[in-house]
Amino acid sequence: MLRRVLPQAKTLAQDIVQDGDAVVDATCGNGHDTKFLSELVGAAGKVYSFDIQAEAIENARSLCGSHGNIEFILDSHENIDRYVDSRPLKAAMFNLGYLPRGDKSITTTPASTMLAIQKLFDRLADGGRIIIVVYHGHPGGKTERDALMEQLSQWPQKEAQILKYQFINQKNDAPFLLCIEKNRHA
Ligand code: SAM
Repeated sequence: MLRRVLPQAKTLAQDIVQDGDAVVDATCGNGHDTKFLSELVGAAGKVYSFDIQAEAIENARSLCGSHGNIEFILDSHENIDRYVDSRPLKAAMFNLGYLPRGDKSITTTPASTMLAIQKLFDRLADGGRIIIVVYHGHPGGKTERDALMEQLSQWPQKEAQILKYQFINQKNDAPFLLCIEKNRHA
């Protein structure tokens, strides 16, 4: 069976992230990706996990329990450069949209998402990946989707390879996946 979008996002991270790596969850939400990344990088690694809602960070803290390799950051992902140390990042994950079971009016926005992607790309290790699950069924979701697609499709091929993974016959604006892989410079 073809892998669904969320498991595929995890596989794209799992393929490259190793014990001891530094990674980012750019949209912490209820913390499922943060927990997954924390287990991937192990005790010697580090997960920077961002959200603008205290409720999200609280939910994620209770999900993640005593994983000591996570730094929860109550700030927008566009300010990522204020928090990460100089270690190159191996991967970053985004789930765009609103907090599940939370306030649906608080969503990611095109300008801050793109700025965060650009800043993350600058800090990414060669071969590192930014993995983005795009939810476009909510108000504002299509604008964000279109802005991302327009800008990412112009990204120079010599810098990155960018993948789109999407089921094209699913109803109800099913989410799709984008993955930006930074080219290796010999
Ligand atoms: N991966 C999460 C999980 O496991 O539950 C779900 C993430 S949810 C779809 C999107 C989250 O992005 C929301 O919690 C929302 O508050 C957060 N968010 C929105 N704008 C943000 C921003 N500028 N910086 C960081 N987080 C943001």
